[in-house]
Amino acid sequence: MTDRDDRRAADGAAPGPDTAPPAWRLLLGYVRPHRWALAAGALLSLVTGATGLLLPLVARGLIGDLAHHRPVTWALLGMSGLVLANAALGGLGSYVLRRTAESVVLGARRALSSYLLRLRISAVDRTEPGDLMARVTSDTTLLREVTTDSLVGLGTGGLTLVATVVMMGLVDVVLLGVTFAVILCAGAVLGVIVPRINRASRQAQDAVGAMGAVLERTLGALRTVKASGAERREEEAVHAAAEESWRQSVRAARWTAAAGNTAGLAMQLAFITVLAVGGARVATGSIDVGTLVAFLLYIFYLMSPIQQVVGAVTQYQTGSAAVARIQEALRLPAEPPLRSAPLPSPGARPASVAFKEVRFRYADDLPYVHHGVTFTVPPQGMTAFVGPSGAGKTTVFSLIERFYDPESGTVAVDGRDVAEWELSELRSSIGYVEQDAPVLSGSLRDNLLLGSPEADEAEMARVVRTTRLDGLVARLPQGLDTLVGHRGTRLSGGERQRLAIARALLRRPRLLLLDEATSQLDAVNEAALRDTVAEVARSTTVLVVAHRLSTVTAADRIVVMDAGRVCAVGTHRELVTGDSLYAELAATQFLAAVE
Ligand code: ADP
Ligand code: MG
Repeated sequence: MTDRDDRRAADGAAPGPDTAPPAWRLLLGYVRPHRWALAAGALLSLVTGATGLLLPLVARGLIGDLAHHRPVTWALLGMSGLVLANAALGGLGSYVLRRTAESVVLGARRALSSYLLRLRISAVDRTEPGDLMARVTSDTTLLREVTTDSLVGLGTGGLTLVATVVMMGLVDVVLLGVTFAVILCAGAVLGVIVPRINRASRQAQDAVGAMGAVLERTLGALRTVKASGAERREEEAVHAAAEESWRQSVRAARWTAAAGNTAGLAMQLAFITVLAVGGARVATGSIDVGTLVAFLLYIFYLMSPIQQVVGAVTQYQTGSAAVARIQEALRLPAEPPLRSAPLPSPGARPASVAFKEVRFRYADDLPYVHHGVTFTVPPQGMTAFVGPSGAGKTTVFSLIERFYDPESGTVAVDGRDVAEWELSELRSSIGYVEQDAPVLSGSLRDNLLLGSPEADEAEMARVVRTTRLDGLVARLPQGLDTLVGHRGTRLSGGERQRLAIARALLRRPRLLLLDEATSQLDAVNEAALRDTVAEVARSTTVLVVAHRLSTVTAADRIVVMDAGRVCAVGTHRELVTGDSLYAELAATQFLAAVE
């Protein structure tokens, strides 16, 4: 399958909820690697139960020995041994089960987080990061209880249940039929209750996701929220989500309690019915009293496994609601798994870029952003993109990085459609500085090494110097190891931009994309970086979205964009006289016009 088929499969035919495999299958998929540990844990629990059952027998022997004045040493030793074994096996069994459950959670977290990192940008555009985060943290946690309580409960409770039913059948088949009839009625009631638990759990978890989304939105922009005096309203939104989760969880609790009670009630009813029917059968001489008593005793034995199984089923509803949310995230379109591609070696040839009749929109229900964009950029040199805000300049860069795919037309790098490139190989050729110069939490060094983890100190020192960050680094007591805060809030806007440029340069890209990368620099730094970029453009292809006339005049060619079209391509001298839009932009000195 080529990359392009992958892409079609990912974008187009994402399976709908009806074609999705059932939740239990996904759950079993997470449990499968740990099935032996789980079975061992369940077995240990069963054996613990069995040793518990042996105790009364040994106690009986002990009392007999005492009555007959026989030595009780062996019986005492036996009892102590049993008690110790019971405690040890019980502890071990519960440890093994819990450990397995944690491993299941770990497996789900690993799988989901790896998948989320591979999500297509178009999919991420439509989701709330806070909600996705809740799926990795909170929903996966719910798998823990499902694994231990639900699966093990179903296993051990089910086994005991079957064994008891077999014994009941051996005692009297008619009474077993009566018991079954009562249990079936209760089953019908449970059939109504159980989906409600599922629905309420699902809504409770959705509300947790909504809470995560609101919190992420608020904490991610706390300065703006405070400056807008919007704390109260954001607080209300978080509280509303928390209360919704509470409401739905309480609803789930109500139905869970009803399910437990239904099971209890069914057993009481079975007891009374068996007593009545059995009494009649005793009266007609079909069975003797002993059989009836034995059967009634078995009904008592049935209680605990039935409660266990019903508990397992109700617990599973919460788990399957969580699994459904995990599955939903796993159905978002993702990129094919990344192979690690080496960064270009020093002296690698510069890349060429060509857009041919590219039509693109961000989603099917959104207007077109590119209406047939065509241009070519030869290897080497600097090409500037200018045009009013919203013309589609940033979108050009997103398409080159293949964050999105065009609807029609081709985007080619080195003459090859980007859809045919191995993604990691394509991206490793490119250094991209986004419009808002994102910096990640961590140290300056972490940020520099993000795109080229193998860079050495000398290379780092070089880019720090060329981006004029050396003054800053020298000033900071911890130098490159200074932490920059969430999204680099401890840096100034200009410092963030220089850090982002340094990070891109450290990759020694064959194609450098700078999106308004120097917009926040002072004149001195801007001039210095302009020289740096001009220097880089001698050995690399550089595409800049420019806002300053000075950058644009230095470019080898200028692509003028307006409203999703390329209106002119040429040098500054050609365009000033040849293109009215460019002439106007140039006259106002702000070529990317009021970004
Ligand atoms: P420019 O960089 O030239 O100012 P952009 O390429 O960023 O313009 O945006 C072009 C148009 O696409 C704008 O109208 C903008 O609203 C829209 N747009 C940009 N990014 C997205 C997105 N992720 N989802 C939907 N629409 C978008
Ligand atoms: Mg832009």
